Amino acid sequence: MKLLSILAGSLTAMVLSMPAMASPAKPVIGFSIDDLRVERWARDRDYFIAAAKELGAEVVVVSADANEQKQVNQVENLIAQKVDAIAIVPMNSKVFGAVIDEAHKAGIKVLSYDRLILNADEDAYISFDNERVGFLQAEAVLKAKPEGRYYMLGGSPTDNNAKLLRAGQEKALKAAVDSGKIKIIGSQWVPEWSPTTALSIMENALTAADNKIDAVVASNDGTAGGAIQALAAQGLAGKVPISGQDADLAAIKRVIAGTQTVTVYKPLKLIASEAAKLAVKLVKGEKVEYNDNLDNGTKKVPSVLLTPTALTKANVDLVIKDNFYTKEQVEGK
Ligand code: BGC
Repeated sequence: MKLLSILAGSLTAMVLSMPAMASPAKPVIGFSIDDLRVERWARDRDYFIAAAKELGAEVVVVSADANEQKQVNQVENLIAQKVDAIAIVPMNSKVFGAVIDEAHKAGIKVLSYDRLILNADEDAYISFDNERVGFLQAEAVLKAKPEGRYYMLGGSPTDNNAKLLRAGQEKALKAAVDSGKIKIIGSQWVPEWSPTTALSIMENALTAADNKIDAVVASNDGTAGGAIQALAAQGLAGKVPISGQDADLAAIKRVIAGTQTVTVYKPLKLIASEAAKLAVKLVKGEKVEYNDNLDNGTKKVPSVLLTPTALTKANVDLVIKDNFYTKEQVEGK
């Protein structure tokens, strides 16, 4: 009797200490995030976990703090844990080829989340239409400043989205550049999308141009925030139109205050819950409705691209109507 209860006790302890058991009926999904310190990704995580739970799935989240080697190791660790699927927001789009092959050998499905993994064999990609995001950013800045000297503040050079955004921005500006109405006087990528790096890039750009910058096309709200700090130091915040994306709370406040012209709203609950559904369907071998195919250098990756919305002062209250923020959050100091 005593032996039996000791055995039962150690069995329970073993079960409790074991990683979650994966099975198609109750899948376990790994979620590997580049950098949870960036505002949006914590929301992606929370919505993803909630949506997965409703589908009977469990999520194991890891964050790499913008360290590409750490992220590769974390994905290897998820493979060792025998999860059923892994959703990856890659810090560096180009370093996951081998690890995805490893995952496939272990029967694990892989989903590129928000950022496309390049030169690799991921099973699917889900994101917002990033070229469209870039187009909306530049279009709104151009509307506010149809002529003048433009500065292009790009995203992280290791993030494929940064390139797609730039392609969309260039498309929106092309006619004005060709006609000579606007002149692009400088352009820089911002490593790791760092707001403080964006601040110093903008300070240097302003100094080099003798403050003669009429508009800035910035690729997200974090970097826009850094750039706006540099503009403010020269008394130029609110005078120089500037874009962003993500509808970060600080950016929404800047749009209302008039120091940021536009942010692009991407409902994170939508991408996270669609991604959770997609991951579960991949595990169960069910049919997924894709609406695009993005070439990642190795293959055309079956993709789901969602629609972003530009927010300016005129329609910024959409974030309240859509329950992205409460009125109190938006109006709070
Ligand atoms: C995402 C943006 C985000 C940026 C920095 C991009 O890949 O699409 O929403 O602001 O990364 O994390």
